[in-house]
Amino acid sequence: MSELKYCQGPECHTYDTKDRLKGMKGSKTYQTRRRSSMYYGGGNFCSLNCQNDWFNEYGDKAIDHFGRLKEAKHLTEDNAWIKDYDWRANADESHRHYFINKITREQRPLTEEQYNDRTYTINTGE
Ligand SMILES: [Zn+2]
Repeated sequence: MSELKYCQGPECHTYDTKDRLKGMKGSKTYQTRRRSSMYYGGGNFCSLNCQNDWFNEYGDKAIDHFGRLKEAKHLTEDNAWIKDYDWRANADESHRHYFINKITREQRPLTEEQYNDRTYTINTGE
């Protein structure tokens, strides 16, 4: 069985749901949820509420810590390539994979291997 981890929501234990209420009769407490997997915030939060609570509490500090954006970022032709594909319903015909430039709309063919390789790109900018 995979390891259980706690939801990182600072208010998780304050939401009164049955699954959070734990302990012996007479000494029950609402507790932070503990799960083997969670769907929100990169697997750190049990719900969108808990993710939002975390951001409301720590978001500003986190942004300042990792670097607050002080000017607009630019998506240029050099780094506007995204991967896409045309789906083929016919089983003996493979899907057509390609790069498409979000600015120029130019398309360039792509193999399925290149499409699936998350590190493969023809973007040259940031
Ligand atoms: Zn939670």
